[in-house]
Amino acid sequence: MDTRCDIGSLSREQIADAFALLGLPRFRVGQVVRWLYGRGAADFAEMTDLPASLRDELSRRYVVGGAEVVARQVSEDGTRKYLVRFDDGTSVETVGLPDGDRLTVCFSTQAGCAIGCTFCATGRAGFTRDLTCGEMVRQVLLVADDFGRRVTNAVAMGQGEPFANYDASLAALRFLNSPDGPGIGARHITVSTCGLLPGIRRFGEEPEQFTLAVSLHSAVQRTRDRLMPGVRGVALPALRETLVAYAERSGRRPTLEYALAAGVNDTDAELDALLAFARGMLVHVNLIPVNPVAGAGLERSVADRVRLFRDTLQRAGIEVSVRAERGSDIDAACGQLRQRVETDASSAGTEA
Ligand code: SAH
Ligand code: SF4
Repeated sequence: MDTRCDIGSLSREQIADAFALLGLPRFRVGQVVRWLYGRGAADFAEMTDLPASLRDELSRRYVVGGAEVVARQVSEDGTRKYLVRFDDGTSVETVGLPDGDRLTVCFSTQAGCAIGCTFCATGRAGFTRDLTCGEMVRQVLLVADDFGRRVTNAVAMGQGEPFANYDASLAALRFLNSPDGPGIGARHITVSTCGLLPGIRRFGEEPEQFTLAVSLHSAVQRTRDRLMPGVRGVALPALRETLVAYAERSGRRPTLEYALAAGVNDTDAELDALLAFARGMLVHVNLIPVNPVAGAGLERSVADRVRLFRDTLQRAGIEVSVRAERGSDIDAACGQLRQRVETDASSAGTEA
């Protein structure tokens, strides 16, 4: 049996600790990380500036987890969607969105998701497993490779709930941000969460200027509980307080994601609740007509409702945007992948 550890499951600190135990000099850490996440090496044998004896020693102890693109779709607007498969056969979706000078990658943090949001294709399909940080970074490297250019923005908005896999997700963000890896600016790296409060609190304490997005989808407890059953225990006033504290502590403006579904969360009462929630806090509201998913029984709101939401929020002095869908001509089982990415990429871009 292969008892070697996947080096992709280790954060930079964990690699450093393991190397220290092996008595390796500190600079070997950066060297190996550059091979893994700067150049995307698939094997220690490729790491030609390491002594052969060290390459052998590392190969005896570790494997480099693989990731390959097994399907790829290209949209007329340039968006590319990939099915990425890992060594155990688990696969996830990853999206690349080119936009002028920008190339944004939307990556997955888990295979499937246990939160079970009714409007979400991933949530409806259930949970398979957490991804390692290496598997997250490799999605970004594959897209960079396919486009043949640098990735400028990354968003954890693919499959999965990043704060239900906090340590691996944060380790991945750090590799993405590192000059030894893709070197993406922290403000251009966004995490989207369904609103797990301990995760938001921890995230606010991290020293990097990463960007936070929270899937709100309704500011009425009953509606939100129905749409997002896995976070039923999260009371809206507590979520609001946590976000206010996050903004105060970090000085960063979180985004509230709101997918508008006709007759569900686009009524006047829902708008009043959203206004009350967002007023007086440092926040950006991102309105997205919901992407209908088979079996969910949801339809997107009509344009008039979307405009009413936008105008009302704006008049109340709340920063708001409405985003058009991208990649709509490529079949996207993972409904959420397409629509939000652009917004977060652009809001993070303008704040930088
Ligand atoms: N689990 C995290 C991140 C992944 S989902 C989260 O929920 O935030 C990324 C975004 O896509 C979330 O805002 C999610 O609510 C949204 N989303 C999922 N399904 C959608 C759909 N059918 N239409 C519009 N947005 C959707
Ligand atoms: Fe999970 Fe996010 Fe989908 Fe909800 S919207 S099921 S939290 S991936």
